[in-house]
Order: sequence, then structure tokens, then C-alpha cells
Amino acid sequence: MINKLRDIVDTTKRTPVMPVLFVGHGSPMNAIEDNPFSRKWGEIGKALPRPSAILCISAHWETNGTFVTTMSKPETIHDFGGFPCELFNVQYPAPGSPALAESIKQEIKHNPVDLNTDWGLDHGSWSVLRHVYPEADIPVVELSIDYTKGMQYHYDLAKELAFLRKRGVLIVGSGNMVHNLRLVHVKSIEGFNEPYGYDWALEMNDIFKQKIQSADHKALINYPSLSKAAKLAVPTPDHYIPLLYALSLQEKKDEIEFFNDQALAGSLTMTSVIIR
Ligand code: ZN
Repeated sequence: MINKLRDIVDTTKRTPVMPVLFVGHGSPMNAIEDNPFSRKWGEIGKALPRPSAILCISAHWETNGTFVTTMSKPETIHDFGGFPCELFNVQYPAPGSPALAESIKQEIKHNPVDLNTDWGLDHGSWSVLRHVYPEADIPVVELSIDYTKGMQYHYDLAKELAFLRKRGVLIVGSGNMVHNLRLVHVKSIEGFNEPYGYDWALEMNDIFKQKIQSADHKALINYPSLSKAAKLAVPTPDHYIPLLYALSLQEKKDEIEFFNDQALAGSLTMTSVIIR
């Protein structure tokens, strides 16, 4: 995959149409751990065309209404508890982009998007981005998830973000396809990355992958009817919705590749997608 991506970088002089990512972010500890997931994030950062900016749709920013961060210096938000000091000390000082926020507000016609000045970057963004772009020198804005809206709303809204791919903006949905923290089985925070999945988690991971591969987005929008296991795999949609944002931006000629395809601690999957 990495070699193919390098070819894109080497053979085009114009602003390339940016790939789109869905990243399974998993435990916040991935932010400070050197493990197979975080290493893969670093490889992807080296292989992708350098973006002009990043738009992240994080599972960890849910709002009533849709908002985009507009501050020029977004704060690093440590939106978790019970983790080591080292994790709370992490800063990801990437700049924001008021201009990008404004153009998203202007270009999205069907649904109002308002500017936000008091969020920042939550760990759905920075725990991944600090491995992808460790220099923190690419502007990042976040788009919130309106928790009052259904799956079709999110899929349709994401379609209107397509213009950003042509402007060199890397769009990243950050969540987890299978994500049931109530049923997660860990002996300690450090043991979060134990590589196994319950039968229903593996079943849903396979179904999701098949539907993504065949671009059956309708089925993915209506995910509760895919299997009885869907209720366990996606007990609340917050970590699933970022996947719909990424898939909605898939164009006919795009190819799909999976990475970090691994179940963890029984009830999570890190399965991630690159669309390019
Ligand atoms: Zn999360």
C-alpha cells in the first residue's frame, strides 16, 4: 500500500485529490505507545501526499447542531480520566485554520454548520495525528457530530465536504467500527490492546468490511439490520458515525484498503480504511 501511495506523490505535480481515512483510534494510550497501530499511523503519514490542512470528524465531539472549529490555535483537550500523567502532558500544538472553517460553513448548503471557538482537538484527533504528523505543522480543524441526527443526515452532510479533497485537505473520520466499552475485558489500562475479539465482534467486523468493499453504503447506513450482532458491536453510534463520513466521500474510481484490522479486548476493533 505504502509503495502505491508513494507513486501518487511522485507522479503528480498538481494538488492531488487527497485520500480519505477512517481510523480506528482505540485506547487513548495509543497516543504515547509505540505499537503496531501507532507505527502504522506513522507510515501512513510518510506515504500520503502532504495535505494543505486536515479536517477531523472525531467520535469524541458530539453536539446539538453541527459545528466546525475556527480558532487559530486549538487547545489539546484531554477528554478522558484514569490514565497516566504522561498522557495528560501531551500537547499537539497544530495550528487551526479559520479560513478552512469559514469555507466549510459557506460551502455546506443543505445543513447549517456553525463556527465554534471553544472546543479544540480532542483525543480522537490528536492521539492519532501526533503519530501521522508528529511535527504538528499542518492546520487541523474538527467537525462535530450532531447527536440529534440519524445516519442518513451524516452521510448526506459528508457528501458536501467532497470539494475539500480537491483542495488538498485530508479528511479523517476517527472512531471505531466495533466499539462496546461496557463489554471490554481488560486487566489493566496497559492491557487494553490484548488481541482478541468476541464472536459477535469478529462477525460484525467481517460484515462491515464486506459492505465497505462492495460500497454497499445503504446497508452501512442501516447497520442495525445487518445482523443481531450489530446491537452489541455498535451500542451507541458515536464511534461508528465517523466511518459514514469517510465512506460518503468515496468516489467511483476510488479503491479501498484496510489497515490495523485487529480486534482488541473482546469488544473493540481497530479496523481502519484508506479510500484513494
Ligand atoms: Zn474513542
